[in-house]
Amino acid sequence: MHELSITQSILKISLEAASQQGATRIRAIRLRMGPFSGVVPECVQMYLDVLAKGTRAEGAKIEVETVPLKVLCRDCGRESEITRERIQCPFCGSIQLKRLSGNEFMVDSLEVD
Ligand SMILES: [Zn+2]
Repeated sequence: MHELSITQSILKISLEAASQQGATRIRAIRLRMGPFSGVVPECVQMYLDVLAKGTRAEGAKIEVETVPLKVLCRDCGRESEITRERIQCPFCGSIQLKRLSGNEFMVDSLEVD
C-alpha cells in the first residue's frame, strides 16, 4: 500500500502545479527516483488511473527517470555514482560503501496543456 499514499501526494503536487500554471490537462508526470526508493512505477500508474478520475490529471502517464546512487567509499574515501547492478567502488573495488543518496523520490516536471 506504500504506492497508494505516494500516488496521492504525487497527484496533489501535480494538480497544484497545474493550476498554478493555468493548465487544463496534465498529459504526463515525470518523476525522479533513486534506485532504492522502493517504489514500483507500474503501481503508481495503476493508482493514478483511479485517483485522477475527474481531475485535470485524468489519463496522465507516469514517466520515471532513475537517478544514480551516490556513495562514499570507506576504504579510499572517494565519492562516486554507482548503479544497483554493480555495487562496488569504481576506484578501488571496495564494497565498503556508505550510501549518500538513492532514496529520492520526487516530482520532476509535468507535461501539460
Ligand atoms: Zn574506494
